[in-house]
Amino acid sequence: MTDALPLVLVSRALPPGWLDRLEGRCEMLVGDADVAGFDSPLLEALPRAEGILCLLTERVDAALLDRAPRLRVVSNMAVGVDNIDVAACTARGIPVGHTPGVLTEATADLAMALLLSAARRLPEAARDAREGRWSTWSPTGWLGTDLHGARLGIVGLGKIGAAVARRARGFGLELVYASRSARPELEAELGLRRLLLPELLATSDMVSLHVPLDEHTHHLIDAAALRSMKPSALLVNTARGPIVDPDALEHAVRNGEIAGAALDVTDPEPLPPEHPLFARPEVLVLPHIGSATRGTRRRMAELAADNLLAGLRGRPLPHTVNPEVEPRARAPHRLGPSRGER
Ligand code: NAP
Repeated sequence: MTDALPLVLVSRALPPGWLDRLEGRCEMLVGDADVAGFDSPLLEALPRAEGILCLLTERVDAALLDRAPRLRVVSNMAVGVDNIDVAACTARGIPVGHTPGVLTEATADLAMALLLSAARRLPEAARDAREGRWSTWSPTGWLGTDLHGARLGIVGLGKIGAAVARRARGFGLELVYASRSARPELEAELGLRRLLLPELLATSDMVSLHVPLDEHTHHLIDAAALRSMKPSALLVNTARGPIVDPDALEHAVRNGEIAGAALDVTDPEPLPPEHPLFARPEVLVLPHIGSATRGTRRRMAELAADNLLAGLRGRPLPHTVNPEVEPRARAPHRLGPSRGER
């Protein structure tokens, strides 16, 4: 029994090759590729599991941890860890890994795509062209908003917020931000100006959200926040769905309190097709594809695997959200040779 490789629960099947570096270093029990959550065989194996590699669709809470007394590492294949009860992991001495950095550029690209799509009404225009409503070049058809000269308010100037700022600068937008910490180096580099959130919301032509979801940012954009925005304003959310109150958003666009929204993330996910937000032509909804490029997703999987292996070896994780937890080794020599030793 002690000679056995550590058991790792991989919540969802990933494409061949993405987790190659785990081969021979642990025993993997892999869940269904297309079903969110831990399926029954994985739940039954929790008492033996020493590692979990999961996606943002899996909830890792205290009840689940209580069923996994041998667990020594949780590795999330996402940068956000709102699906994980980090405090419960910390209390049990379990390090939690995540995948910052590798998805920054892809997510910033998508935020710009949403900004451009909403400003220039691409979904409506494309639908009208396809469905026969393009009768002539129209001087007043599908009029949108200029990006050049507009003010973009970035909420949360971390890695992705900064990458959006770099892109937006190239489009001639005026840049302001509201964030927990000041970023003077970025202010100097990109001409950003820091504002308090109420002023940012009241004065921006476009607002892009890049804060993590936690108890401080849940419904950060609520009815009052939306009412305070310009009637011409556009809201872009590539962060997490519950940062925006969806009922308040639907009310705000229906009543012209803001001009439109473009959402990569929603609450709930998936957003049911009958949800009133889908009925609003001013709202564009994507199925949470911020990091969805082949290269980025593969790099996320590899980083998640590196975090997992470090935890199993009792070594510091390359990227963890609870660095105060000291990883616990079981039998490092039984995890197979490290990459350099092969
Ligand atoms: P990050 O580098 O940690 O940046 C987050 C920024 O938000 C930091 O500057 C942080 O301030 C700031 N912040 C945190 N709490 C705040 C608050 N209450 N009020 C104001 N600012 C606050 O993270 P990131 O890599 O840019 O990712 C941001 C989020 O994007 C992730 O948490 C994830 O949920 C989401 N995301 C979504 C997708 C997608 O597929 N759509 C892909 C990747 C990431 P400090 O500097 O003081 O910490």
